[in-house]
Amino acid sequence: MIIFGTAGKPLQCKDESSLEAVECVKKINLDAMELEFVHGCKMKPENAKLIGIKAKEFNIKLSAHASYYLNLISPKKEIAEKSVKELITTGRVLTAAKAERLVLHSGFYLEMSKENAYNEMKKVFLKLIEIFKSENLTAVLSPELMGKPTQFGSLEELYSLSEEIGYDYLKPTIDFAHYHARENGKIKEKEDYAKLFELVEKKVGKKGLQTLHCHMSSINFTEKGERNHLTMDSDAPPFKPLAQALKDFNCSGTIICESPNIEKDALYMKKIYENI
Ligand SMILES: [Zn+2]
Repeated sequence: MIIFGTAGKPLQCKDESSLEAVECVKKINLDAMELEFVHGCKMKPENAKLIGIKAKEFNIKLSAHASYYLNLISPKKEIAEKSVKELITTGRVLTAAKAERLVLHSGFYLEMSKENAYNEMKKVFLKLIEIFKSENLTAVLSPELMGKPTQFGSLEELYSLSEEIGYDYLKPTIDFAHYHARENGKIKEKEDYAKLFELVEKKVGKKGLQTLHCHMSSINFTEKGERNHLTMDSDAPPFKPLAQALKDFNCSGTIICESPNIEKDALYMKKIYENI
């Protein structure tokens, strides 16, 4: 089964603390929330622990989105080091909340060839995984499928990394809107989602489809990729064929709504999905 949730606090409870927001998400009838640490993770582990306890009580699945300002393979050493440090901080907080998925933007190719970027990225992820292991962190690195061709993180790259490193240690986040933008409006029908899921299964097996973590919204894009997220009524990429493909492939996991209409559109998706 797929559950649905919000990227950050629902709009109707945005003045509340993250702790209160967990209850709010439940009241709205959603089942997941992504903690947004997109300007850096400043939450204290003791607060994260309380949020985790509350999430368990209300059966809300928590995940986290790390800082927007990472580049794990930056040619500037201080940026790359700072990015690693930020992920360790976020990983500690997420572990305190007993949550798993640590969604992150890996970085940019810049002057690097795609092949070099891939190999460098692999090294950094392996190093991070060692640090996570040594600290007994249970957070799992979940690099996100990115919406611009200048950003590291195509579907193929992420699942190849996961296949090589091991799915238990690196679980990609599929952002369907980013995929649509990156691939120039590729998604038109169920078959297009089916191809995506076939690649996931080929690379990491059925368990990849049974533990999906995804982002969804509509998206505005140009040939340079993503411009901005749109509400679901733009239907680009279309949601109904996705809901159908999720059922066809017997997928389980979480879809986090990143539309500007966060909770309304999360509920819209939930309703369509449940009615199939
Ligand atoms: Zn993101």
